[in-house]
Amino acid sequence: MSQLYNCVQCDLKFDSKKKFEAHVIFSHKTDSTSKKKILILGGGFGGMHVLKELQKKLDAKNTSITIVSDNNYFLFTPMLPEVASGMLNPRDITTPIREFCTSAKFYQATVFSVDLQQRLVTITRKFDGKNHALEYDYLVLAVGSDNNFYGNKPIEENSFPIKTVEDAIELRNQTLSMMEIAAQTGSIELQQKFLTFTVVGAGFAGVEIIGEINHFVRKSVKQAYPTINENNINMILISSKNEILPELNYKLGESARSYLKKMGVRIISNVKAIDAGESHVELSDGEIIPCTTLIWTGGVTTNSMIKSLICEHDKGGKVLVG
Ligand SMILES: Cc1cc2nc3c(=O)[nH]c(=O)nc-3n(C[C@H](O)[C@H](O)[C@H](O)COP(=O)(O)OP(=O)(O)OC[C@H]3O[C@@H](n4cnc5c(N)ncnc54)[C@H](O)[C@@H]3O)c2cc1C
Repeated sequence: MSQLYNCVQCDLKFDSKKKFEAHVIFSHKTDSTSKKKILILGGGFGGMHVLKELQKKLDAKNTSITIVSDNNYFLFTPMLPEVASGMLNPRDITTPIREFCTSAKFYQATVFSVDLQQRLVTITRKFDGKNHALEYDYLVLAVGSDNNFYGNKPIEENSFPIKTVEDAIELRNQTLSMMEIAAQTGSIELQQKFLTFTVVGAGFAGVEIIGEINHFVRKSVKQAYPTINENNINMILISSKNEILPELNYKLGESARSYLKKMGVRIISNVKAIDAGESHVELSDGEIIPCTTLIWTGGVTTNSMIKSLICEHDKGGKVLVG
């Protein structure tokens, strides 16, 4: 069945996006002399910062601000690893977007399409799946990035990303399950495989997650898993570069490296993960690591919604401005 476009302003249904947009423009387009409409897409770091600044600086009498995001909370991503390790709960690192909206209007919805020419954004509401059109005079694109697996399907299918609250909860459950399974096996080889956690990518996300999982697993094993031999725990961080934390200066990266080493993390530099299965990861230098938990923080790419915009893009799909 083809998709129906539902106008929430008058509850009419349309069988094509074109008809739906034409209806919105002719029936609902507001007077251009009325308030300037600012539309922010994405309620992450970028979107929330813009929202706060605009609400402070602009007079609500002359402007209307609307923010759209697919979750109704702002997520403090640097602390996702603490949720993955169970140190924090999701509510500790999330804040309702509505708390930031002093004058702005919020829609929990996914951006479905952006018509830059008509200055019209179609969103799909989370709670009923209905489409809704929003006009704008100024558009802020702040939808973040997508995980980049560089087209490597085996790695995509056999790894855990760490970008959302759901990812963190899944990883926490996986870590707990691996400790339970390891505790019940008599084989050293199997125990080592279940207790090997490999993180690919040594940027902020990768370094933070290996640090947290390492601490969590070693502490839990000591406290609650007498049948697990601590020597069978392997924590591995893979960096495609020589250094780790390239976002920071060399000295800070090196100090993080020596701390992680002291805590029992093996750091493998200048290699890439090239293949993975349910219980192994293969590196570009030929090493095959038996492991059941591969965590992917190997890179991000332009958000697919941004790539689909009809405008000029660079090679990576980013919008060219200037
Ligand atoms: C585990 C982890 C740890 C990190 N640690 C650090 C750190 O210590 N320091 C640091 O500087 N950076 C860190 N980062 C990176 C940081 O999170 C990002 O740089 C930052 O989130 C980018 O902000 P953003 O607003 O561009 O995107 P995001 O914060 O990702 O926000 C994008 C928002 O848009 C929404 N969205 C996306 N697509 C749509 C759509 N189609 N429709 C509606 N809404 C949509 C998303 O749900 C999200 O709310 C870390 C990242 C991770 C994953």
